[in-house]
Amino acid sequence: MAWFAGVKRSEINWAPSIDPDKCVKCGMCMNCGKNVYKWTKNGPIVQNPLDCVVGCTTCANLCLGEAITFPPLQELKEFYKKHGIWSKVKKQLKESGKIF
Ligand code: SF4
Ligand code: SF4
Repeated sequence: MAWFAGVKRSEINWAPSIDPDKCVKCGMCMNCGKNVYKWTKNGPIVQNPLDCVVGCTTCANLCLGEAITFPPLQELKEFYKKHGIWSKVKKQLKESGKIF
């Protein structure tokens, strides 16, 4: 089971959705390094939504059809606030030496 800052990843509402009517099959979403998408004969599908990096929107930013959307960022920020994610992530960053 995957966790994010002490919270089960499955409890965090963050993953892409594709509007198939807008998708122009440019393939840019397949450049995601997290194996979230799978290419099919009809274009991409979201195969592993929980592998999406929480807060990332790179694929949507580069989608030529503007077919990819995410839950509202404000909703994610409320979740961060409720679960004290900011301080947990900062603690992890300090422990790993990335910040001091
Ligand atoms: S990046 Fe957007 S338009 Fe391109 S294949 Fe993926 S979903 Fe379709
Ligand atoms: S938001 Fe980032 S991690 Fe999530 S599917 Fe798109 S590129 Fe991959």
